[in-house]
Amino acid sequence: MTATIPCLVRKFWQSGLDLLFPPRCAGCGIPGTVWCATCDDRLIKLRARICPLCGGRLPRSGICRNCSTNPLPLPVRSYALYEGPLTRALLQLKYRPNRRLAETMAVWLTSLFQREGWSASMVVAVPLAVSRLRQRGYNQVTLIASALARMLELPYDAKALRRIRDTPSQVGLNPTERWNNVSGAFRSYLSNGSSQTVLLVDDLFTTGATMAACASALKASGVKNLMGLTVARAR
Ligand SMILES: [Zn+2]
Ligand SMILES: [Zn+2]
Repeated sequence: MTATIPCLVRKFWQSGLDLLFPPRCAGCGIPGTVWCATCDDRLIKLRARICPLCGGRLPRSGICRNCSTNPLPLPVRSYALYEGPLTRALLQLKYRPNRRLAETMAVWLTSLFQREGWSASMVVAVPLAVSRLRQRGYNQVTLIASALARMLELPYDAKALRRIRDTPSQVGLNPTERWNNVSGAFRSYLSNGSSQTVLLVDDLFTTGATMAACASALKASGVKNLMGLTVARAR
């Protein structure tokens, strides 16, 4: 008895859409579902032996190489390694606004958030470069972050963080170049930052440079408590 009218309407609409356009697995393409059990089994999830700060896999030494030289300004957890079907699914979401796929990923992030026992007062997505937003017409991270906010029953603020300058693609840059590329590229427009605990969401964690740049922008607007979640993590 908890389903609301808009929720029922959405479900009804979705069933109609499924009949007209049967969904396909974003990982392997089989029809019938947006994410199949086989692809789910192939995910390499980041659970045990992870760095308490950046959430990456710890080497045998138990010391995270990233965080011992350049500690992240916020704790981050990622759901699984950026490999195989997950790579295909995230690429697909960049070129097609597949809301059900975004919702599946939001369910994954909800489980991470609950596993960590975190609490937050709002959800914010890492913004896309303005030129890329114009090209694509949407930000795939927004789809995931807004679905996550609904599931966690938290407000989602689309305007809290903006890119104030376009940055070249991070692809092909070494770690230092990545940090320099995004440093100072974001600005927070939160007026009540000091009273917020912000959950920052991105699709892929590579070096942590983007998360760190967003965190310093949010901290500059007074935010003291923040944490990050990403769907995937580069090896
Ligand atoms: Zn599949
Ligand atoms: Zn670490």
